[in-house]
Amino acid sequence: MSRKIKKIFSLAAAASLAACTGGSTPPPEEKPLTSVEDILKNSGYRLTPMQAEFRLKSADIRHRMGLPNYLISRKDVKGYYDGCFQADYDEKQVPQKARVYYRNFKPVINDDTATSTPLVNFARNADLFFCTETESPKGTVAYWVNDHNGIVTFNDHLHYRSSIGETTLHEILHARQSDNRLVNGYGLLSFENMALSKYVREAAAAVPGRLYMFERHLRGDATNWKKNDYKRPIDNAIEDAYHTARIIGLSHLKALENAGEAGFHAAMTRKGWQRSYLNNLIRDIVGGYKKNVLQAENGSVFGLTQIRLSGEISPDFNFTRSIRQIPDVQKIIDEFPEHKRMLDFLELKRIEQTIGADSRDYRKKWADLRRDQNPYLGINLHEIKQDDSEHNAFDQMIAAAARRDTAPKPPRAAGA
Ligand SMILES: [Zn+2]
Repeated sequence: MSRKIKKIFSLAAAASLAACTGGSTPPPEEKPLTSVEDILKNSGYRLTPMQAEFRLKSADIRHRMGLPNYLISRKDVKGYYDGCFQADYDEKQVPQKARVYYRNFKPVINDDTATSTPLVNFARNADLFFCTETESPKGTVAYWVNDHNGIVTFNDHLHYRSSIGETTLHEILHARQSDNRLVNGYGLLSFENMALSKYVREAAAAVPGRLYMFERHLRGDATNWKKNDYKRPIDNAIEDAYHTARIIGLSHLKALENAGEAGFHAAMTRKGWQRSYLNNLIRDIVGGYKKNVLQAENGSVFGLTQIRLSGEISPDFNFTRSIRQIPDVQKIIDEFPEHKRMLDFLELKRIEQTIGADSRDYRKKWADLRRDQNPYLGINLHEIKQDDSEHNAFDQMIAAAARRDTAPKPPRAAGA
């Protein structure tokens, strides 16, 4: 399934959600949101009547909780049924295109651990689809993504075959974070707060896969425990915190919560990880500017309340619920001076898009950047391709600054 198609789906979903929550007068006749027959038909009769009934019931519960009802918000679901699988599928129901992914995730579906079971159940209740993208542009790194419409997409199975299960748990947690409204899109927060939001959501998502592997390790399966340099700091933190908690008498689940919190903090300390998500933040802001959808800050914050929801695997199992301190993201950003200069320049572009280039705020920000000799002042963000396969947005902006040979033109109204 192409990204373009997914984007169209998301837009359609947003429009449809807006439509279903907009009316203030009740319709004259209470119509069911959808029916078992509709669901069966939409699935091309891939689902069994029992599965369709289960979806209807879960969607109804979610709808009453104010959560997205993907059954009605996803517009054209045929592509998903044809190319993806769901967590309650029987082997025979899995379409050809999703077989490799399914075979690699199936052991997790069939497993029973404190970490994986509630997440797989959530995937069933929320009607998540697991999709696969076989072709990836040459040079791109593999990726996996949850698009906030309940679709998890994976590419590059060869690369991730051994960890497809845990990275899928990562994406399922993101879907839960979506339910918990932890995603803010293109603004409303300060850039520092946007960075905090990204770091917190990603550090939390890095944990369930490791907790799951730790639980398997406790049962004697050491194949994917402390084997990977990038994940080892998380693994060590999880193991230490778990055993400490067990020694003082905590239950397996409580000890896992402590372990998860330790893993969350450990995930956040990794330098390469910090850099890559700062790169992503820059890519997202550039993308928002190009689509003309950047929003001004409105005083809302990503704070402790959100942080404490970021690691909610289920109401009974939340490894961030006891976090007392907001991670010091400014300190992280300070260690990446080039990213910091870039974000400073992007703030100017945000002011341009939200308040206007003829505003006092804009002129003041422009003068500040000029005084600081910000190297990005004057580059054209429309030249930055945020999904370029060879160079990320960060690298392209550095290249654009180097190409910029003339001094930046002051804003039109600067002398007025
Ligand atoms: Zn993630």
